[in-house]
Amino acid sequence: MRGVQVHVVDSNMTACEKCWRDAHAIPVGDAVKRYEQLCRERQCTPEDQAGPAARWCMRCRRWTIHQHAGVCTACGDEPKP
Ligand SMILES: [Zn+2]
Ligand SMILES: [Zn+2]
Repeated sequence: MRGVQVHVVDSNMTACEKCWRDAHAIPVGDAVKRYEQLCRERQCTPEDQAGPAARWCMRCRRWTIHQHAGVCTACGDEPKP
C-alpha cells in the first residue's frame, strides 16, 4: 500500500488539469502514469492546462490562471487573488 496519492506538481511546470482529469476518468491502472503519458503525447493549450475553473490573466488576456496553482500557464504570472 502506498496510501493516498498526492497530486505532485513538477517544480517548473504547472499540472495540466485536462490530462489530470482524463487520466483519472478510467478507474483502473495507474492514473499518475497515464497522466504523465498524456502530458507527453498531447500539445495542450494553456487554457486546457489551467482547467475549467481557470481565472483571467490580465497580462495574457486569456483564461489561463491555473485553478489550483494560481499561476498563469501561459506567462507564468502569479497574481494575487
Ligand atoms: Zn494536458
Ligand atoms: Zn498570463
